[in-house]
Amino acid sequence: MSKIIKAFALLLTALAVTACGTDLNTAPPVYQTGFISMDTYISLTVYGENRESAAKSCQSEIERLEELLSATDSDSEVYKINSSEGMPVTVSDDTKAVISQALLTAEESGGALDITLRPVVKEWGFTTGEYKVPDSAVLEKLLEKADYKAVQLKENIVSLPKDFQIDLGAVAKGYAGDKAIEKLKERGITSALVNLGGNVQTLGAKPDGTSWNVAVKSPFDESCLCVLRVQNKAIVTSGNYERYFEDENGKRYHHIIDPADGFPADNGIVSATVIGDKGLTCDALSTAIFVMGSDKAEKLWREKGDFEMLLVTDDKKILVTEGILDSFSNSSNMEVTVIKK
Ligand code: ADP
Ligand code: MG
Repeated sequence: MSKIIKAFALLLTALAVTACGTDLNTAPPVYQTGFISMDTYISLTVYGENRESAAKSCQSEIERLEELLSATDSDSEVYKINSSEGMPVTVSDDTKAVISQALLTAEESGGALDITLRPVVKEWGFTTGEYKVPDSAVLEKLLEKADYKAVQLKENIVSLPKDFQIDLGAVAKGYAGDKAIEKLKERGITSALVNLGGNVQTLGAKPDGTSWNVAVKSPFDESCLCVLRVQNKAIVTSGNYERYFEDENGKRYHHIIDPADGFPADNGIVSATVIGDKGLTCDALSTAIFVMGSDKAEKLWREKGDFEMLLVTDDKKILVTEGILDSFSNSSNMEVTVIKK
């Protein structure tokens, strides 16, 4: 029963996002489908010949990657790594690509993204739904066994120290989106939209040649914050409203952890959206930027120069990098500040 309710709740969220999020031109034949995978509701909108078979191969690909990258499925490669007791594990090219990017973004973000936080995430109950606020002393102890620098990746061989555990939840959906887009392209599709619960990836333009309109949800209520007009881009949001619980005083604890202290990140950002060419890098960056706060994020944006971002701060301001200004329409009454080079 509770499973059904959960699925229904997920479906409602997804519908809300779609209704808010995408402007679908329904005149040309379209194939739309939705399913639950990677712990979220995923929807596909595919135009062109072969649209149905292409969407089906997308779904199989996402489900295949879930089996590989899930930390809880005992058949997954991540599970194998986590139960390796310090022994080297040979992994597929997919797992290698995801870990490799996560380690790169970890380095670039000064450790804000850290895939070894699983024991901490678990302690908060985010893996099971049995939430609790852990003792600082317990978190400190767990953080002794968390450090992305301890993950060794050589070719396809991963070594993780004993008692360490990884979790690719911050990056897996981005990679799955990239692979889904690849599958569509292989079947000759040139116009499609993949929505993996908060990660939107667009292929080409809409069938009429105009850009996709992707809405970003307000972190404060169910309204649209803004609309971004894009083609061939990934738009990935990390928000404090996506997975959280509240204590008896109504204080909110969300699922993005600051590796500095093991508590939910609280550096002034309530929602971080990253726009770029690849879902994997955008997903890694959106989580990292959420943890880093806006000053460090601005610095990273200037250094890297290959992504754009839209941040919402806890004092209800929107910060937008100048590269997306032309494709951005504010739907809220919040003040917008442009971040310039
Ligand atoms: P979502 O999964 O809602 O799209 P994110 O991409 O930001 O959000 O990933 C959050 C997930 O990543 C958490 O549920 C947790 O499993 C894991 N995680 C939490 N904090 C971190 C962190 N600082 N670095 C890497 N992974 C994290
Ligand atoms: Mg992420």
